Formats: sequence, C-alpha cells, structure tokens
Amino acid sequence: MTHRRLHGVTVQCTQGDIANQPDMDAVVNAANAQLRIGGGVAGAIHRAAGPGLEEECRSLAPIRPGQAVITGAHGLPNRHVIHCLGPVYGQDEPADSLLASCYRNSLDLAEQAAIQSIAFPAISTGAFGYPLEPAARIALKTILDEVPRLSSVRHIRFVLFGAADQRLHAQVLEELADQIIK
Ligand code: ADP
Repeated sequence: MTHRRLHGVTVQCTQGDIANQPDMDAVVNAANAQLRIGGGVAGAIHRAAGPGLEEECRSLAPIRPGQAVITGAHGLPNRHVIHCLGPVYGQDEPADSLLASCYRNSLDLAEQAAIQSIAFPAISTGAFGYPLEPAARIALKTILDEVPRLSSVRHIRFVLFGAADQRLHAQVLEELADQIIK
C-alpha cells in the first residue's frame, strides 16, 4: 500500500526526486542552517529553483534544528518551498523531538499559507546520518498525529530517492495507519 486516506487527507509514499513534484503546492527542503545550496535534497532544490531562491533565503538564515521557514519556489514547478533544518544525528539532541518538530512546523507553515499539497523528503537521513527506519517512524507518526487538525492540507507525499527507502516508508505508513484505525 503506497497511500492511506485519513480524515480526508491522503498520505502517500512514492519514489522520485523532490525537485520534480510539479503537482504539489509546496516541497520541503532538507536544508542546512544557512539555507544555502548544498548536497542531497538542498542541492537538487536549489539547482532547480535557481539563484533567486538562495537570495530570498539570505534574510531568513540561520535557522535552528527543528525550525522551518517558507519562501517562494522560483524556478521550481511549485508555489512554495518550506525549508527545515533536521537534527544532525548524534549531535543535536533530543534528536527524535527535533525531527518531529520539523514535520510539525512545516505543516503549520503549510496551513498558514493555505497550501493543499506538500511533498517531504526523508529529513536528516542523508548527510545528517539519522538511521532511516527510526526517522521514518517519527516522520510518519508526527504526520498522522497532525492529520486530524489539518484544514487546508489535503495531500501529503513522502518522496524517497531509493526503492528500498520507499518500501520501508510504505510499510511503516501501513503499520501506523492500521494502529489508528483499530
Ligand atoms: P539531511 O542533510 O537532512 O540528512 P540530505 O539531503 O543529505 O538531508 O538527505 C535526506 C534524504 O533525502 C536522504 O535519504 C537522501 O537519500 C534523500 N535524497 C537526496 N536527494 C534527493 C532528491 N533529489 N529527492 C528526494 N530525496 C533525496
């Protein structure tokens, strides 16, 4: 099962590139504190958006672990980018609640901007070293906990780079959604 519908909100886990989600209002950037172009997700997003994105980000930086800020999408095929700084695993503590804050704060910003659809990457699981399965559990649990209070956001998509990462997220989604329904 790659998607679930709960309280009128579709939560989906797909394989793909976060910088190529043209049907979504917003994409989330796994940002660095300075909101600069980097590797991984931040590199893909900034390359696709063009230099105007870094320029807009300049006055918003630096951000703290768990924090999120919103900008325009520039050359990306979306309306907004939400930039979040995940915890560096083994360094920023408590890592689990900081990672949960990323997802909660991103959804709060999405609601404030009347965003209906938002795509997330697996924040902190690349250069920041957060092990994938615990990160997936925190991310999906936080999202499922928030779903009942969402009024604008109707579609939340996880975009995973690899097939194995996508399968893991889909399995965790199924497990957590089943627990809610029971
Ligand atoms: P962080 O610094 O928060 O760990 P990274 O960008 O290094 O962020 O990686 C976060 C996750 O995103 C990793 O699982 C990585 O494999 C994945 N990833 C990297 N590039 C992309 C992309 N273009 N689209 C979707 N996921 C990506």
